[in-house]
Amino acid sequence: MRTSIATVCLSGTLEEKLHACAAAGFDGVEIFEQDLLVCPLSPEEIRDLAAGLGLSLDLYQPFRDFEGVDGQLLEGNLRRAEAKFALMNRLGIDTMLVCSNVATATIDDDAVAAAQLRRLGELAAGYGIRLAYEALAWGRFVNDFEHAWRIVELADHPNVGTCLDSFHILSRGWDPAGIERIPAAKIFFVQLADAPELSLDVLSWSRHYRVFPGEGAFDLAGFVGHLVRSGYDGPVSLEVFNDVFRQAAVDRTAVDAMRSLTWLSERTSLHLAGRDDAVGAGRMSLATLPGVEEPHAVSFAEVTAGDPEPIRTLLYQLGFTSRGRHRSKQVELMTQNQARVVISTGREPDREAGLSALGLDVADAAAAASRALQLQAVPVPRRSQAGEQVLQAFSAPDGTEIFLCPATAGEPAWAREFGSSAPETAPGTITGIDHVNLSQPWQHFDEAVLFYESTLSLAPRPSEEVPSPMGLVRSQVMRSRSGAVRLALNIAPPVFDGAGDGSGYPQHVAFGCTDIVAVARTAVERGLEFLPIPENYYEDLAARFDLDPALLQTLRELNLLYDRDADGEFLHFYTSTVGNLFFEVVERRPAYEGYGAPNAAVRLASQYRRSRARKAAGSPVR
Ligand code: MG
Ligand code: MG
Repeated sequence: MRTSIATVCLSGTLEEKLHACAAAGFDGVEIFEQDLLVCPLSPEEIRDLAAGLGLSLDLYQPFRDFEGVDGQLLEGNLRRAEAKFALMNRLGIDTMLVCSNVATATIDDDAVAAAQLRRLGELAAGYGIRLAYEALAWGRFVNDFEHAWRIVELADHPNVGTCLDSFHILSRGWDPAGIERIPAAKIFFVQLADAPELSLDVLSWSRHYRVFPGEGAFDLAGFVGHLVRSGYDGPVSLEVFNDVFRQAAVDRTAVDAMRSLTWLSERTSLHLAGRDDAVGAGRMSLATLPGVEEPHAVSFAEVTAGDPEPIRTLLYQLGFTSRGRHRSKQVELMTQNQARVVISTGREPDREAGLSALGLDVADAAAAASRALQLQAVPVPRRSQAGEQVLQAFSAPDGTEIFLCPATAGEPAWAREFGSSAPETAPGTITGIDHVNLSQPWQHFDEAVLFYESTLSLAPRPSEEVPSPMGLVRSQVMRSRSGAVRLALNIAPPVFDGAGDGSGYPQHVAFGCTDIVAVARTAVERGLEFLPIPENYYEDLAARFDLDPALLQTLRELNLLYDRDADGEFLHFYTSTVGNLFFEVVERRPAYEGYGAPNAAVRLASQYRRSRARKAAGSPVR
């Protein structure tokens, strides 16, 4: 697959965009006219810069409102086009995007549109330029790719072909199977964008909410599958108008974009596998990556803190046992059955407690690491002494380090590198890590969803929004099919997140247990500071559910939250927040699948109140 990207997808100057696209590994770019107009470089300097970076300039765009007009307007449009052809010759670009007319068309007649495009084709031929005619989803008379193709067929000129744009096709619900009926030689260009499902007019949807493949709801592997079967082998270019990407760091967005194409290329290959009609002469080459099975479990969570004592205390209060210090690193392990927390003492004594890494059990750690690196994950260098297990690791977009642990039935090998090999004394009913909430920088949320899906085969669940006193918190659960690994990605309102790196919004680790009342009672005895839950909540709970009065009293007494649905009941409580982290304990009775979403607003409001009170008192505990 020849990869390309429109400069409009990215933030920064044209020079910055070209450098970022080259560094991310794109083969070429589309020059968006606005980027050229505001650039002080001459067209020749832009051409030379791209060539020096190894990028082809694949398309100049957009040329608007050409066809379906009266004779006088047509002459003006041809003059306008000729100036662009001369410019394109200076840039060394041989293909121009011609969008279906949205504004000045007055003649709804395919023969007229075709004749006018033919005249444009004759003019373009003199400059060695090809025209890729694209049906915009909101075109005045032409909004369907098969209609655009019929006009191209009627125009019948070697320099007039079509451009297929997945957004314009899938947003209107047109069946992409029709792509296979277009001769590949007449598909001059292909643009890809994904988008979330929204009830919005198609123009606003397109201009603000396009995302990279894999970050939205469109079936793009199916779309590219039709393209492959058509025999098309030209550039596959990302054209994504997105309000957030235009503000995010250009180099990161370019890597996110390239990751999406690599992932899509592999998905298409899997989609076509075993279909004998898929293989044709000159078939587009598709990526193959080492396969990865979903992780089996969260092996450990690592917390880093300048002062580890408050974290150690919280875990002790929840019934965890210290398994001693690591033989060569400044870390301590605390466990309760399969729940393992590694506490790392940060070098800076002032460093706030925060989640720094997750260990995930995978069937084939080497394959998973290799896959992640091919998807441009940043590897984490490890230092280890002789005889210690080396775990491969990479960084997620939110900065969390992901360690790949070989799945084992009993105690993992790495855990034996800690001081105490004695079994836990009287472990409680916490059984393991149920889920982990990772706060995401607002400008990298879509990237994070694709990252966790593409590198670890976690599947996105429908996203939710939860009200907090400072705005809505968006929550997106990424889950393994088995449910053993659940990551909840949270994007906090920017006001929470002054630094813009997600650090203003606390993360949490939730432990699963089989008897939450027992865990809570032990915690009370050991002096745990629970997140307080207001009485109004319990009165509402009594009204919503027909609860046993004794259970309601226990919930109230222990600051437990409650939810119920068709699958069962959910009981949970939260600790106070230390630095940027708190813990949750949950009990699922027996098959409840959610996370107590109706209770999230209660938690957020209580945490907000405490955070304000503690800040006023100058205490680091929130
Ligand atoms: Mg387009
Ligand atoms: Mg939770």
